Amino acid sequence: MPVSPKTIVRVAVPSPLRRLFDYKVKDSCAFVPNSLVAGMRVSVPFGRRQIIGIIIEITNHSDIAPEKLKDVTDFVDDQPILSGRLLKLFKWASSYYQFPIGETLFHSLPILIRNGEPLPELRERYWTLSQKGIDAGEELLVSTPRQCSLFKLLKSKINIKESFILEQFSRSILSKLEERGYAQLQYIENERVADDILVGNPRKPNQEQQIVLDAITLNDFNCWLIDGITGSGKTEIYLKCIEKILLLGKQALVLIPEINLTPQTERRFNSRFNVPIVVLHSGITKKQRLQGWAKSLSGEVKIILGTRSAVFTPMKKPGLIVVDEEHDSSYKQQDGFRYSARDLSVMRAQYEDIPILLGSATPSLESLRNCDEQRYRHLMLTKRAGSAAVPKWQTIDMRQEKIESGFAETTLSSMADTLDRSEQVLVFLNRRGFAPVMLCKQCGWAAECKYCDSKMTLHRSCNQLICHHCGARSNPPIDCPACGSGQLIASGEGTERSELMLQDRFRKTQILRVDRDTTKKRGHMLEVIQTAQKGDPCILLGTQMLAKGHHFQHVTLVVIVDADASLLSPDFRSTERMGQLLTQVAGRSGRGKLPGNVLVQSYQPHHPVLQILLEKGYGPFARQLLAHRREVDLPPYQYLALVRAESKLASRAERFLLLAKATADSIRKSSRALYYTGPLPALLERRSGRYRYILRIESKNRKLLNSVLDKLARNLESDHSVRWCIDVDPQEF
Ligand code: ADP
Ligand code: ZN
Ligand code: ZN
Repeated sequence: MPVSPKTIVRVAVPSPLRRLFDYKVKDSCAFVPNSLVAGMRVSVPFGRRQIIGIIIEITNHSDIAPEKLKDVTDFVDDQPILSGRLLKLFKWASSYYQFPIGETLFHSLPILIRNGEPLPELRERYWTLSQKGIDAGEELLVSTPRQCSLFKLLKSKINIKESFILEQFSRSILSKLEERGYAQLQYIENERVADDILVGNPRKPNQEQQIVLDAITLNDFNCWLIDGITGSGKTEIYLKCIEKILLLGKQALVLIPEINLTPQTERRFNSRFNVPIVVLHSGITKKQRLQGWAKSLSGEVKIILGTRSAVFTPMKKPGLIVVDEEHDSSYKQQDGFRYSARDLSVMRAQYEDIPILLGSATPSLESLRNCDEQRYRHLMLTKRAGSAAVPKWQTIDMRQEKIESGFAETTLSSMADTLDRSEQVLVFLNRRGFAPVMLCKQCGWAAECKYCDSKMTLHRSCNQLICHHCGARSNPPIDCPACGSGQLIASGEGTERSELMLQDRFRKTQILRVDRDTTKKRGHMLEVIQTAQKGDPCILLGTQMLAKGHHFQHVTLVVIVDADASLLSPDFRSTERMGQLLTQVAGRSGRGKLPGNVLVQSYQPHHPVLQILLEKGYGPFARQLLAHRREVDLPPYQYLALVRAESKLASRAERFLLLAKATADSIRKSSRALYYTGPLPALLERRSGRYRYILRIESKNRKLLNSVLDKLARNLESDHSVRWCIDVDPQEF
């Protein structure tokens, strides 16, 4: 919209208030774009500060009296940095997750964009003769020989890169020709034309892959769930689809759950495509993030590969979104703006009217239900691509076994056999540190965190007790603080202890440990991958970091040390997560030419949930869980939101939620259609010295739930007695 004296812009600013702010536009600004478009940044007075905001609407009227309206101080951009469709996504996200619009935007943008840094210039500067220059003859320039030679250079060819000119001429010579009206600047978009996008020859799809590829259409919005066992060639499907949209000159956004997986995925994409790829995750610098973001906005970059927050990357010509390992809980942000990048991806694809592929060997129950409801289309890959066979499961009944530091004798001898055959073993134990508890044998005292309701984990390498929830540390006591006895023992196994035990048992074998402690060392993960790739017999030992996505050619035995851990958790999602994790870990076995085996150690080998998973596989296991969830009205058959509150005083958090409940009740009385439960303590009631409580709000009607949440949030907005937030589709309790 062109600027007039009556123009008013409605601006989103980083503020917890759930609304936009109106400003007048005066032409006294140093720079006013010819035409105002939503999605441009402005600098505006806010309270006593100057801050950066984003124009969301342009209008001619405001509810605020004209004399009270403040002016925009400055314009940052001459073109929008967010498209209308992306702004729509932000607005949707803000109202769906009940998070203030300004903070929604500012949480999701690169920090330098938030700070008002201008977009880096990505277009190439070229020079050419103006019409006056073309009409003129060189004789006009004889008195200035340098200008004359530059004139001749420009005459020899249209559009010459500025950097090339500046190698031979000073900038002042160039400026003189421009001032005299002979030369003019041209911007040329740095977009590569897609003709040679492929590097080498990709494999021919197998029959199953071909059926899936034939089913996928890429012209408009559609959501496909690619449900394929590990190693079935899902990534090949993504690559094929990306190839097709690249040929149309469009861009692809690919989300992966773990920063650790980016190097491997990047390598695979680079060895397939001859196009600029940008990688966005938390490990890059502010400047790299800005550059990558801007290159995607300008269309220069064709593939954007990133973790959760990359879902918000602007694209000039979006063509496809891929969400790999769609079930992974790391797609849900667990603080601040609590969005799900998977769900936002689907919404974004809808707004952009482009296809989206969700891929997983262990799809989430939410996605399976969406397939049942025909919102997503279910495509299956049931066989491993190439020659590898599906691994064989075997349960080890721990009640019948002689056990050494958490390992059954049968397990240890299978490991020895595997190593003797010069093959590799992967041991999965989802607990880092030496021992999860320090106990007194005399009186039963256990070392607990001072700030959380949890036990401290003993770490031997630094000889400290560490709380895995808040990071608190203390020195392990020598004598029991309760009874004074000297009989303190480290109980249970963590990866550190297993490493020591296994090293003692397999003296000649290299043990590669991967957990959050070892990967603090830069490059450790890469080193482990490279060592394992050499193929010498070794034991890979680690937490879920090791389990996710990595491809270890030479592993033929996977050991799951403690399959029971999550059978006991009170979180209703823990069984689903266990099934996913075990299936993913097992999928690390036998990916090369040799067949794989999986040993599952359990004290409850006949637990029905474990049995169906091991005997029938993830699909039937998930079906059974879905049936149960439907029966007891849990997600995905019920929509759920939490109001969370935390405070140093338990009573204050509880009181706040009682008030929230009363307020909710006054908005809409609790009924079967929508009901409130709580306040209840969170599963970990105290963390970092704060008491945490939740109020559950549930309904089968998403619209109803959303409208009650919206009113509730506005009612509670000004209450600062506790830290509180709304968590829609929560993953943790
Ligand atoms: P997923 O993503 O499902 O785990 P990948 O796409 O990584 O599966 O494929 C697993 C392995 O099989 C890879 O080594 C890949 O190169 C190989 N592969 C995939 N598709 C084919 C095919 N059509 N022919 C031969 N090998 C294939
Ligand atoms: Zn004691
Ligand atoms: Zn703690």
